[in-house]
Amino acid sequence: MFESLSDRLNNTFDRLRGKGKLTEADITSAMRDIRMALLEADVNFKVVKDFVAKTKERCMTADVMESLTPAQNVVKIVLDELTELLGTTESKLVFSNRIPNVIMLVGLQGSGKTTAAVKLAYLLKKQGRSPLLAACDVYRPAAADQLATLGGEIGVPVFRGDGAHPVQIAQDAVREAIDKLRDVVIVDTAGRLQIDEQMMQEAVDIKRAVKPDQVLMVVDAMTGQDIVNVVSTFAERTDFDGVIISKLDGDARGGGALSVRAVTGKPIKFVSMGEKPDSLEPFYPDRMAKRILGMGDVIGIIEKAQEAADAETVASAERMLREGFTMNDMLEQMKAVKKMGGMKGILGMLPGGQKLLNQMGGNLDESVFAKNEAMIMSMTAEERMRPSIINGQRRARIARGSGTTPADVNQLMKQWGEMNKMMSRMRTMAQQAGAGKKGK
Ligand code: GDP
Repeated sequence: MFESLSDRLNNTFDRLRGKGKLTEADITSAMRDIRMALLEADVNFKVVKDFVAKTKERCMTADVMESLTPAQNVVKIVLDELTELLGTTESKLVFSNRIPNVIMLVGLQGSGKTTAAVKLAYLLKKQGRSPLLAACDVYRPAAADQLATLGGEIGVPVFRGDGAHPVQIAQDAVREAIDKLRDVVIVDTAGRLQIDEQMMQEAVDIKRAVKPDQVLMVVDAMTGQDIVNVVSTFAERTDFDGVIISKLDGDARGGGALSVRAVTGKPIKFVSMGEKPDSLEPFYPDRMAKRILGMGDVIGIIEKAQEAADAETVASAERMLREGFTMNDMLEQMKAVKKMGGMKGILGMLPGGQKLLNQMGGNLDESVFAKNEAMIMSMTAEERMRPSIINGQRRARIARGSGTTPADVNQLMKQWGEMNKMMSRMRTMAQQAGAGKKGK
């Protein structure tokens, strides 16, 4: 998602950086490029017009043009404006004191509503809540079955109310939640392929009947210009508190996702990046803007690492600090990288990483992992614990055993050497910090 937009914006910035001092004509031309890039990404034309006007006005000031690094300033302004377009700060779900809280999802058919309901239930369950899913989409064939199956997979009960009217199902689900001590009801409502009066009225009726604490609209990231009509009608009729953008993992141009906040004034609360229940993530405008501009999402990487890290990993990190870095640790690290979505996933979040990936045609040779793994597996237990004993003879044997070359083994030894050096530096820092604390 956003790849071609990202490429085009970066090309514009590269051209500016190549210039040194900027003239008004340079900025006008850069703004024209940005305008075209956004329009081609299918961002709503009015949103583009406002965005470019604001950005241009800020770039045309003497502060920017006469600064020592004008191109950098322009990039910073585009980043600021893009962050603002996406909503500036994170917008969390708001819960009331009422039990159960009711969250209602609305949106067109196929937007990803049913799967979003399940993903949200999964997320809330992980946060210690006990959700109940209410299957109020009684028109789409198998919608309730789909919800029941997915709910079963994540261990969240689904209230179906077979045969009843959707308004009745929603009300009964709330009663069921009170009986069964569930503290959040997530209501999946019916969608249509297009805006339809009956669908709107039903959503209004359900809303009136169960008075949801939050109404969230699910919007498919592939929606382009048309998004304005759809969200405006929902905003008028049912109103909603926030947006879930689904299918952000796809390769659509993303214009709808970029326009929705400006068009509705409602915050994007979550984005969905896949079909699995764990693929719903809170939305951070600043991080997304940085990713679009190829500046990397460093915080995202740290969080992913924290998620992948279990108690065992933490314990082994502590041991590494105490006893040094072994080949077994290196093996563990490679496994951890795989768990975080592989090098491709991580690289995509690094500054300039997406650009690098694109240059490589999206291909990243992960076979180097397999090679390293084979070499480590060919080492004796002692060699793994004390890699420094691996001499020329041992290297030749490891290469033979793993079907690699001594040059490959040398490469691995070099990597280990670097990491070991880093680890001992960290050990010294940790010791100094510890001594500092004790001294106080
Ligand atoms: P509904 O009609 O709005 O309830 O839509 P569904 O929840 O059934 O989703 C429609 C299709 O989109 C299904 O095949 C989902 O698996 C798929 N889908 C939903 N969200 C995502 C997402 O974030 N990424 C991808 N790749 N597919 C999604």
